Amino acid sequence: MPFSVEFFPPRDAEAEGRLWRAVRIFERLSPAFVSMTYGAGGSTRDRTVRITGELAAQTTLLPVAHLTAVNHSIAELRALVGAYADQGITNILALRGDPPGDPLGEWVAHPEGVEYAEELVRLIDTLGDFHVGVASFPEGHHRAPDLDHDTANLVRKLRAGAEYSITQMFFDVEHFLRLRDRLAAADAEQAAKPLIPGLMPITSLASVRRMVELSGSVLPPTVEERLSTAAGDGPEEDRAAVRAVGIDLATEMAQRLIAEGVPCLHFCSLNFAKATSEVLERLGVDVRDALGAPVGA
Ligand SMILES: Cc1cc2nc3c(=O)[nH]c(=O)nc-3n(C[C@H](O)[C@H](O)[C@H](O)COP(=O)(O)OP(=O)(O)OC[C@H]3O[C@@H](n4cnc5c(N)ncnc54)[C@H](O)[C@@H]3O)c2cc1C
Repeated sequence: MPFSVEFFPPRDAEAEGRLWRAVRIFERLSPAFVSMTYGAGGSTRDRTVRITGELAAQTTLLPVAHLTAVNHSIAELRALVGAYADQGITNILALRGDPPGDPLGEWVAHPEGVEYAEELVRLIDTLGDFHVGVASFPEGHHRAPDLDHDTANLVRKLRAGAEYSITQMFFDVEHFLRLRDRLAAADAEQAAKPLIPGLMPITSLASVRRMVELSGSVLPPTVEERLSTAAGDGPEEDRAAVRAVGIDLATEMAQRLIAEGVPCLHFCSLNFAKATSEVLERLGVDVRDALGAPVGA
């Protein structure tokens, strides 16, 4: 089963070391691609550009660079795309991004920038021979007034030239399947492009709650219940028990998605290889050579 992995730019040298250990493990598992998220500003953005370049130059992996419109003029966006091209990176995930500080706060476009991801897709298309992907939202984007509006936006981004989309992580496969149905009903031609589900093996209940909240959503009640039972009533959540349930959940979702014929599974790795590798092992991937020993050991 093709799979891909998402990384984020590490904060410091120690975190960068951790990232590279995960990169080397994943490299041996041959993902279809790896992607690097783009932060809200400054040094984290520089790190995204630098490390994505290093992934292209120093590994066998196919890197996809996330790029957002936040606080960038069109001239800056052009320069960034040029910097990627100079490093041999031709795969870009075109995103609008969220307001820095408060992702759910008011969105203000750069006065000389773009308003929507669709414009970024078109801009990148004018700059060379790039393969562009976009974001999709199984539960609808939190700013979209309804699901039809959300689907129409995804169709526009695909018609503008995006070759595939990766979904926001979700924890109820039904949401993904309904998005796929909406897309097929809205535009059969665009629906033929890969719709790649975003999965995250949960290893901490507190962190996943926060992540889901920041995306304007909530955990499905059955998932919340399984995780909170595992977390227990103590002052600290039982991380080992939560992690075990998180791996079970991700495996169950992946198995259902594979049965539903998805083209690829996109894992948000949080820059660690172990949890994703455990899920892959349960899906039948031989991970022993990559990790040096069975991950269950
Ligand atoms: C796979 C994935 C990866 C991501 N990676 C990053 C990352 O690296 N860095 C980061 O900061 N964020 C990232 N995000 C978050 C993303 O930037 C936010 O969810 C953002 O709020 C939406 O981005 P978008 O590209 O979907 O925006 P858009 O497609 O532009 O949509 C934004 C909103 O505008 C609405 N809209 C679009 N066009 C129109 C129109 N013409 N008229 C009216 N309304 C319209 C849409 O319905 C939606 O509500 C990622 C999300 C996903 C799913």
